[in-house]
Amino acid sequence: MPEGSPFPVQNLPYGVFTPRGSAQPRVGVAIGEFVLDLSAVWAGTPLGGDLATGSLNRFLRRGPAEWAYVRERVTNLLTDDGERRLVEANLHRIDEVKLHLPVEVADYVDFYASEQHATNLGHIFRPGGEALLPNWKHLPVGYHGRAGTVVASGTEIRRPSGQRKGPNDPAPVFGSSVKLDIEAELGFVVGAGSTLGEPVGVDDFAQHVFGAVLLNDWSARDIQAWEYVPLGPFLGKSFATSISPWVVPLAALEAARVATPVQQPQPLPYLVEKEPWGLDLELEVRLNGAVISRPPYAGMYWSPAQMLAHTTVNGASLRTGDLYGSGTISGAAADQRGSLIELTWNGRDPITLPDGSTRTFLQDGDTVTMTASAPGADGVRIGFGEVTGTIAG
Ligand code: MN
Repeated sequence: MPEGSPFPVQNLPYGVFTPRGSAQPRVGVAIGEFVLDLSAVWAGTPLGGDLATGSLNRFLRRGPAEWAYVRERVTNLLTDDGERRLVEANLHRIDEVKLHLPVEVADYVDFYASEQHATNLGHIFRPGGEALLPNWKHLPVGYHGRAGTVVASGTEIRRPSGQRKGPNDPAPVFGSSVKLDIEAELGFVVGAGSTLGEPVGVDDFAQHVFGAVLLNDWSARDIQAWEYVPLGPFLGKSFATSISPWVVPLAALEAARVATPVQQPQPLPYLVEKEPWGLDLELEVRLNGAVISRPPYAGMYWSPAQMLAHTTVNGASLRTGDLYGSGTISGAAADQRGSLIELTWNGRDPITLPDGSTRTFLQDGDTVTMTASAPGADGVRIGFGEVTGTIAG
């Protein structure tokens, strides 16, 4: 195992890959610089059939007991010398395979769980008004996004066009977005569905959610600012959302679990967790290779378990493949903000890159890459790999 690999045996994130020379995508886990082909490990069994497909969905549908069994078996394979032949026959170098979107996304929801981000955007979008709206500390605010435009890391992002109207424009104009932005987020993948009419309790999070990915919620701020009142984000967000190829299982994130910040006022009972699912993750956002932000996930006000309980409290059911974003992760410090609109204060304070060029929002040809790491079991650090995308020029 190379020192400092994001994928030690304590991690074992799941992805979908196609080996060189093959046309058959299949499920694997990342280990060091390799991916272990799980469809081959279980070849000839019903589970092997569910792993020999182009998404994780059939495996996820099997539920938490099966997730735990496969994780334990893979851990044994990778740590028992007696299994070396089976393992080595089915390893592929990650840099020699094609990685795919890991999940066939069912519904996609995006939240707004960082108090710092919501406060910053409140100041920018509603100057002079209350930054946090009255509902914000009572429920995790979210909106339904567009599942069909969740794309694999590496997918080129085409600059969207739409309507915009600045405060001093007499009428809206149509054209390419001039305020194309990023949002550094974590995405949570639902594995096991639920029954229509039956809310999922806040402490049943790990019975339904399989794991987490990195998520970049590309955002056209000029389109968003004009369209979002009163029903929320629409075309300013729905053109593309990128996620990382590796889904880190919750089982690997146990050591990263921390308390959420003090929630005052006390949330309603359906949102109160016995043991909160705050997560001590450190993100890094790079623009054309230069680090522009290091957002800390630990300060997120609402936990993903609270988001899930809120999503279903009205009886709405979950489906395998549902994905929900945390919302932009922003810390209190200026260099911990997870979007350009915050880093440059809506373009007022451009950032300077190492090549001397400046940015307010994204230019054609810009590449944005996000990574994250967390404490894993046995004192190691585990990583999420990366989510990356380039703006088409
Ligand atoms: Mn977002």
